[in-house]
Amino acid sequence: GERAPCARSGGRQRTLAMIKPDAAASEEEIVALAHRHGLRVVARRRLNLSPAEVRLFYREHRARPFFPSLVSFMTSGPVVALVLEGEDAVPAWRELMGPTNSQTARAVARASIRAQYGTDGQRNAVHGSDSPCSAQREVSFFFGARSLVPIQLRLIFDRMVAM
Ligand code: UDP
Repeated sequence: GERAPCARSGGRQRTLAMIKPDAAASEEEIVALAHRHGLRVVARRRLNLSPAEVRLFYREHRARPFFPSLVSFMTSGPVVALVLEGEDAVPAWRELMGPTNSQTARAVARASIRAQYGTDGQRNAVHGSDSPCSAQREVSFFFGARSLVPIQLRLIFDRMVAM
């Protein structure tokens, strides 16, 4: 049979989570929430994004009227990129984030991260990949192609890259 693209076996998945500049000060609390929901931190990196990096990361939104303002928000301070692993990690993290707009989140998902740490439809505390394929792309955006190679094959991969 045909294998679903970008799927991982056994229901274990990885997703790319990002804590945005408006919530970077709450990094530890947000990571603790992920843990409590069965998501393990496999990789973690705090960094400042350049405008070009934000434009690339959010390229699918480049024609939207909010794009320039999104770029200035995302470059206003550090972000924390996380690779989270667990059962159905992609939808599990999206569920924990809550709806895109933090005001909506406070109305319909009060326990969500966006309800607790975000402000509005832009300053909404966190990002999460929307599919396993986006997760692969976004993990390699922050952590490089090596991060997609299974741990058992890392030595072989590193030797190939070094040749
Ligand atoms: N965004 C915005 N204005 C909008 C919609 C989205 O500034 O009207 C920002 C917001 O920070 C959001 C990001 O653009 O998280 C990506 O939008 P998307 O629709 O992909 O939502 P998400 O997947 O983050 O829930």
